[in-house]
Amino acid sequence: MTEPVGRFAPTPSGRMHLGNVFAFLIAWLSAKSRGGHIVLRMEDLDTERTSAENAEVLRSDLRWLGLDWDQETAPQSQRSQVYDRYFEKLRDLGLLYPCYCTRSQLHNVNAPHLSDGTYVYPGTCRDLTEAQRAAFSRAPSWRVKVPERQYRLTDLCQGEFCQNLVAECGDFVVRRADGVYVYQLAVTVDDGESGVTEVVRGMDLLGSAPRQMYLQELFGFPHPQYGHVPMLLSPDGRRLSKRDRDLDLGILRQNMTPQQLLGKLAFSSELIDKDEPISATELAGEFSWDKLRKTDIYLTI
Ligand SMILES: [Zn+2]
Repeated sequence: MTEPVGRFAPTPSGRMHLGNVFAFLIAWLSAKSRGGHIVLRMEDLDTERTSAENAEVLRSDLRWLGLDWDQETAPQSQRSQVYDRYFEKLRDLGLLYPCYCTRSQLHNVNAPHLSDGTYVYPGTCRDLTEAQRAAFSRAPSWRVKVPERQYRLTDLCQGEFCQNLVAECGDFVVRRADGVYVYQLAVTVDDGESGVTEVVRGMDLLGSAPRQMYLQELFGFPHPQYGHVPMLLSPDGRRLSKRDRDLDLGILRQNMTPQQLLGKLAFSSELIDKDEPISATELAGEFSWDKLRKTDIYLTI
């Protein structure tokens, strides 16, 4: 069996919160416990909210935690010409069309949506004529047509998951009207080109895996193994977010050792039996996906 290649894909828009740290810890443990590698890349498509300074702080935080990486690939903000090539591939396949819907039109559509907030697109612009398209004065976003089929995956943490892209998602945007490529396309290209075999991330992204699997097929990449880890909740049951300043790494690094922090995460997620300090390397020796808690984790720090 070939060695797994996992990845860290942080967004350098501020300090990591513990949900990110937890997902990176599990990605690292899963790869390293089987002799694998980790690729780091900065997901900075949103250039307004991200910065090189934040990226450097993220690297420093990962090093402090003992979560090292074997290679860093180019940040997404520098790869738009690469994404262009894959976008053209979709166009050559006859799968792209321009969408002129406004945000409010999309949100007024009375349709169910995925847990990540995606609305089911009803195909409003799919069959517009050239004359109808020409009548719009604004730049369109670009959508890819989805096939009528079930996408199935066996998640390392969540088990069987299945989604019908037509019924549960609809044709989805791959490039925004301002020319910026969306997460689904960028992440598929980046993971595919850097040979990532294992995508470990938060449970909130499980619903986007089938879109990426579809793009992987179109681009000729193998499907990676997915592992969607549970969300961390504060003791009062809220999802941790960047607003929880007291739980960001800047504050935690002043008050704890990395071993104390990793021990708390490992204990809360049932990887170890006692709340005691432990290093990432020690944890790798004991790691198995079977031990990991599958549902929301209440954190007490
Ligand atoms: Zn539309």
